[in-house]
Amino acid sequence: MSTEPELLILGGGCAGLSLAMQLAALGRDCPRTVIIEPRTVYANDRTWCFWGTPAAPLADLSCHQWSTMMVRAGRKIAFVDCAAMPYRMIAAADFYAAAQRAIAANARITIAAGERVTTAPVKRNGRWQVITSGASYSAATVVDTRPAAPAEPGGATLWQSFSGVEIDCDEAVFDPACVDLMDFSLKDTGRIQFVYVLPLTARRALIEVTVFDPMPLAAAGLADALEQAVAARVHGLTYQVRRAEQGILPMGAMAPAAPVDPDYVRAGLGNGAARPSSGYAFQRIQRWAAGCAARVTAGQPLQGHVADPFLLQAMDQLFLSVLTAQPASAPALFVALFGQPDAARVLRFLSDEGTLTDYLALIAALPARPFLQQIPATLQRVLRQRRMASA
Ligand SMILES: Cc1cc2nc3c(=O)[nH]c(=O)nc-3n(C[C@H](O)[C@H](O)[C@H](O)COP(=O)(O)OP(=O)(O)OC[C@H]3O[C@@H](n4cnc5c(N)ncnc54)[C@H](O)[C@@H]3O)c2cc1C
Repeated sequence: MSTEPELLILGGGCAGLSLAMQLAALGRDCPRTVIIEPRTVYANDRTWCFWGTPAAPLADLSCHQWSTMMVRAGRKIAFVDCAAMPYRMIAAADFYAAAQRAIAANARITIAAGERVTTAPVKRNGRWQVITSGASYSAATVVDTRPAAPAEPGGATLWQSFSGVEIDCDEAVFDPACVDLMDFSLKDTGRIQFVYVLPLTARRALIEVTVFDPMPLAAAGLADALEQAVAARVHGLTYQVRRAEQGILPMGAMAPAAPVDPDYVRAGLGNGAARPSSGYAFQRIQRWAAGCAARVTAGQPLQGHVADPFLLQAMDQLFLSVLTAQPASAPALFVALFGQPDAARVLRFLSDEGTLTDYLALIAALPARPFLQQIPATLQRVLRQRRMASA
């Protein structure tokens, strides 16, 4: 392939590869594309979970799914029946392999593996010049999915920091039918902290500790809590760690930088992909990637993640404002949210499929006072973010 592609994708992670899969499916209509990715080998470095029917994008890659889950805070437990929209898990290794197969099947896309973008791309004579550790490229369009700014205080309303291990226990200790979505039983630290358990079999589970806090936390800062969480689950039995995963996700990130140029598109986790109230991004990335391919077919320019509707933004930001102002109330709020009579409403809401009736039911399930108190500051913040995004 020429080193003069039509499209350069910077970063071959979830967003870059999802876009590449969608473009590869266009066959001869796929723009000549190079993906620049520092990795030469893709490790099974994470799992992606989401609620989805079999029709959800990439649902066929799921390695596991659950129909029940619970949220617990002390004696209060909300059981959630999610059979209609199961909680699915995709192993990163399966996703990366599927993406590489799709790319290999279309000669118009290649991955420049082992190459890292080293300087800020510049536009010269109508084309973007990108210098990497191994070559220089020029293309009409760039999709930049590299991580945005590093996680730091003030970079998001809250940071979702988590660290977990997938373990094999010597005896059956897990209930493989039920996910522990949020278990607030850890020692009180004054911050929002819970255990998340994905039981893969009766002996194998992914156990994670998650903190929602204005300060991002490295995995080392979660090590004690993770040890405590694992100990509480294995009841003194021996176990082996199969792999570990950790991350820091923005919840209510500041507005992504305004596009520098219509031919320079930013996407991915730090650029509007993460749902503010959950940090989940996988399905939103899939929808964005499919939308980009549709735009190519229609002869339209690519675009980044579209801002959420005002009402959804306001609800997410209001929820985050309450969590920030009153972290001690979080366990009860989450139990109330997931424990409301029709749990499908909250699942649709978290999956960007909520209706106005769902929104109203969620509002009715939560105590009014803390939310009313946060409305003025939240509205100001959402309007400021929208102004920045459209500037
Ligand atoms: C451990 C973990 C678990 C998660 N679980 C879930 C989940 O269950 N559900 C959910 O919806 N979301 C989840 N997320 C959030 C989100 O879906 C993922 O972070 C997702 O990988 C984001 O995709 P991305 O393409 O923006 O970033 P990444 O997948 O991180 O891709 C960014 C890419 O940019 C590359 N890169 C970096 N620097 C350069 C450079 N200089 N030049 C070129 N390339 C560069 C990187 O190598 C990487 O491949 C999880 C995140 C993590 C970290």
